[in-house]
Amino acid sequence: MRIGLSGARVVSVDALSSAPSGPRRLVLPALCNAHDHARTFRSATLGAFEQPLEAWLPFLGVLPGVDPYLCAATSFARSLRNAVTRVMVHYTRVQGGLPYVDEALAVARAARDVGVHIGFAVAMRDRNGIGLCEDSAVLAVLRPALRAAVAERLSVRAVSPEVQLEQVDALAQALALAPELGAHVTLQYGPAGVQWCSTPLLEAVAEASQRTGRPVHMHLLETRYQRAWADSNHPQGIVRYLDELGLLSPRLTLAHCTWARPEELALLAERDVTIAVNTSSNLGLKSGMAPLAAMVQAGCRVAMGLDGMAFDEDDDALHEMRLAYALHRGWGFDVALTREQLWAFAARNGVRSVEGRGADDGLRGVLAPGGLADFVVLDWERLDDDTLFPDVDPLSLLLARARSGHIDQVVAGGRIVVRGGKLTQLDEEALRAELIERVRAGLGASGDWAGWQRQLSALAQDLAPFYRSSAYLGCC
Ligand SMILES: [Zn+2]
Repeated sequence: MRIGLSGARVVSVDALSSAPSGPRRLVLPALCNAHDHARTFRSATLGAFEQPLEAWLPFLGVLPGVDPYLCAATSFARSLRNAVTRVMVHYTRVQGGLPYVDEALAVARAARDVGVHIGFAVAMRDRNGIGLCEDSAVLAVLRPALRAAVAERLSVRAVSPEVQLEQVDALAQALALAPELGAHVTLQYGPAGVQWCSTPLLEAVAEASQRTGRPVHMHLLETRYQRAWADSNHPQGIVRYLDELGLLSPRLTLAHCTWARPEELALLAERDVTIAVNTSSNLGLKSGMAPLAAMVQAGCRVAMGLDGMAFDEDDDALHEMRLAYALHRGWGFDVALTREQLWAFAARNGVRSVEGRGADDGLRGVLAPGGLADFVVLDWERLDDDTLFPDVDPLSLLLARARSGHIDQVVAGGRIVVRGGKLTQLDEEALRAELIERVRAGLGASGDWAGWQRQLSALAQDLAPFYRSSAYLGCC
């Protein structure tokens, strides 16, 4: 085939009359990461391997804040090398040190320099800083020696809905003044989750999204504890509660829904909400297995997220797609998820989560005239290195064994942004080395970070009996 490009779009895809000479290449549309946070250090590096979500979240603050550009650029670079050109960034870890808008612009600069398009959701929360309960209730179950440090570092600092929304508007203005950055960013509202946001905050977000058309990105029903909390606090149904607030719409993406029930999926399907399923993250944080096939069968729009937690901590989106397929395609002769549905999950549906709804919805994640010139070129000689039968479907080989190591090029917006497995626009290794050096220096400079890291392991031990019991269910 010959693929013709004009600017950021594909203009033609034509069959060649004869096979070209040279090595074989397989071109596929770039994949999309519909839920992430642009985190940069891997979980095990932080000492958080195997922690369930409720004990893992505090580890996100185990490092001193560093340069947001370096953090975001190294994270985006890894995404791009791993077949993803569109990344959702629910920006939950603010590095600090700069005014918020300046920090967000640094993230936007990183997206532009690396060559990805991001959805940037301004993270919002106004309650339950330490867990599923009021901070005082969680502090009360901890060993006394831990309480002061945990309260100081993790307690929620309630900021009014108005001020949180103003931050989004201020960022919108700043992006409008820097169109070369704005072109790489779709600004969104990012309420953290129902257990972390008051009703007035969620109402304000729903109203603002309706008024501005900006998308909303939020976590829902990620763990069994959130499921039990939701049932206890919203006996009429947590999804119904979100519907009454006016949040359920095609502008909304809900990350996880691991513990959603059939009637909840039916309502999400009816409202055309996107669900971002994060298979590896759910395994890594011991959250469970999302009912992906049931979601698809219920008519939900489902998209793949990596959540910074790919199975081998490597952001390999091709491997993530394979893992989701292996777990959800059905057992024996049953087909619960087709290849077409898998493809929509991995490449097509998430674009709306990142960029919002667009007139080109139907052309997203396909290589066709009018579609985005975002694609991945695989070195087929290396992937298909033991051919015996010429008519084995290449898609079978792709699904069976493709990994990021097979990627020869990534094209985003019509430009070659990865070649030979390396970024063409930035020196990723140099950025990463600088980041690690700065973080190490920060760890040694001020504050007892190693001590805090040990305290977080103690916190995890104290949280275990609290969540195993139903003590947290009295909280709202
Ligand atoms: Zn997440």
